Amino acid sequence: METAEIRRRFLSHFENAGHTVVPSAPLLFDDPNLLFVNAGMVPFKPYFLGQETPPFDRATSVQKCVRTLDIEEVGKTTRHGTFFQMNGNFSFGDYFKEGAITLAWELITKSVDDGGLGFDPEKIWVTVLHTDTEARELWKKVAGLPDERIQNRGLLDNYWHMGVEGPGGPCSEIYVDRGPEYGPDGGPEADEDRFLEIWNLVFMQEEIANVTAKDQFDVIQPLPKQNIDTGMGLERVAYLLQGKENLYEIDEVFPVIERAAELTGRTYGADHTDDVRFRVVADHVRSSLMLIGDGVTPGNESRGYVLRRLLRRAVRSMRLLGYEDPALPQLLPVSMERMKASYPELETDFARISQIAYAEEEAFRQTLGKGTQIFDVAAGETKQSGGSVLSGSQAFQLHDTYGFPIDLTLEMAQEQGLSVDQEGFRSLMAEQRARAKADAKSKKGLHADTTVYRETIDAFGPTDWVAYTNLI
Ligand code: ATP
Ligand code: MG
Ligand code: MG
Ligand code: MG
Repeated sequence: METAEIRRRFLSHFENAGHTVVPSAPLLFDDPNLLFVNAGMVPFKPYFLGQETPPFDRATSVQKCVRTLDIEEVGKTTRHGTFFQMNGNFSFGDYFKEGAITLAWELITKSVDDGGLGFDPEKIWVTVLHTDTEARELWKKVAGLPDERIQNRGLLDNYWHMGVEGPGGPCSEIYVDRGPEYGPDGGPEADEDRFLEIWNLVFMQEEIANVTAKDQFDVIQPLPKQNIDTGMGLERVAYLLQGKENLYEIDEVFPVIERAAELTGRTYGADHTDDVRFRVVADHVRSSLMLIGDGVTPGNESRGYVLRRLLRRAVRSMRLLGYEDPALPQLLPVSMERMKASYPELETDFARISQIAYAEEEAFRQTLGKGTQIFDVAAGETKQSGGSVLSGSQAFQLHDTYGFPIDLTLEMAQEQGLSVDQEGFRSLMAEQRARAKADAKSKKGLHADTTVYRETIDAFGPTDWVAYTNLI
C-alpha cells in the first residue's frame, strides 16, 4: 500500500467518524519552545491549553514533523526519520479513552478491502500506564486483547505532559510484532525493534502542577473537559504494509537510495556501514527538501544550522560512499518527485528550493576541499603517535582557518576512531574571543565596533553546536 494511500485511508476513516480534516501546519510554527513542529498536536496546543476555543470537537491531520533529536538514530534503527509525517486524531472535550481505542483498533484491523489497514490482530501489542486500569480494561473489551499483550509501563514512558503546569495524562501505545526473526519474544518491553511502535494515544485527563521532571509532578484535579491526542507514524505503518525492513525503504524515500547507489556504484544491502550512509543520505535529502520548502535557509544558528547540518551530512555521506561530484542536483529532484503527490508546492517552488540546497553544497565543497587534507594529516599524526584524541588546537585550527564547525570535526574524528579534546577547543575559542574583544576596544573609532556581537557570543557561546543541543 502506497504511503499516500495510507494517509488517505487514515484521514477518511476519521472524517467518516465526524472529524474535521485539518491541513498540516508548516514545519516552522510560531511556538517559542520549538525549533520545528515535532508532533501532530502542536498546532492544536492553544485548544488543549484552553487558550482558544476550537472550532470543532474532533479533528484529524497528517502533520509534517521534524525531530532533530533523532538525527543520530537515522539509518541505525529501522524507525527514525529526521522528517516524518504524523497522522493524528484529536478530540477536544468530546470522545475519550473508549472512543480513541475503538477508532484506532478499527482502522488498524479492518481489512484492506474494507478501507482499513489490515493488520493481523494477533500481532498487536499495547502498553498502558501501570495505574491506568481503565485503559487496560478497554483494550480487553474493545479489542479482545489478552492481558499478556497489554504491558504496563511507568510514568517515564507512558505519561504525557508539556513539562509545565497544565494538562497531562496517561498514554497507551500500539506496537506491531514484526516476527521472531527480528528479536526475542516478550513484547515491546523486551525489544523495540521486533515490536515496532506505530501509534501513541494520549488521554489528557487531569491538570498537573509542580513539574520538576518527566515523572515528578502533582496531579491537581481532573480536567473539566477531557481530550484525546494521538500520533501514528505514517512512514512506520508504510514500511510494515510495504513489507520493507525499515522506513528508508518505503516508496517516498527509497528512490533516493536507488539513485545514490547508481551514482556511487555501490550496492545497497551489501555492507552495513554503507547501508547506514545510504539511509542517512535519503533521510537527510528529504528533510532538507521539506525544511527549505517551508522557508528555512541554511545558517549558523538555530533552525538554519539544523538544515545546514542535514545538507552537509547528506553530502558527506555521499563522499564516504565514494561520490565526490555535486550530489544534491542528482538527489533532490528524485526526492521532490516522490513527495510532490502529497505536497504539490514542492514542485512549483522547486527552482527556489533547489537553488538554496545546491548553493549550500557548493559552499560546503569549498570548505571540505580546504580542510579535509589538514584534517587527515592531523588524524594521521595523532594515530601515529599512538594517541586517540585530536588536540584542541588541531580542532581550533580547522575551525579558525578552514571553517570546519566543531561537529564536523567530531564526526570525522569518530569515523577514524578518534575523539576530540573539546575542552581544549572551547578554551582556545574563548581566548580568541577575548583577544578580538581587546583588539576591537583598542581600535575603537577606526573600525566598526563589533563588541556587541562578541558580547553576544560570550554570553550565549558560539552558536555552532549550541543550537543543535538545545532542541526540544
Ligand atoms: P520511539 O520510541 O520509537 O522513538 P516516540 O515514542 O518517541 O517513538 P511519539 O512521541 O510517541 O514517538 O510519537 C508518536 C508516533 O510518531 C510514534 O508512535 C511513531 O509512530 C512516530 N514517530 C516518532 N518519532 C518518529 C521518527 N523519528 N520517525 C518516524 N516516526 C516517528
Ligand atoms: Mg522517540
Ligand atoms: Mg516510544
Ligand atoms: Mg511514543
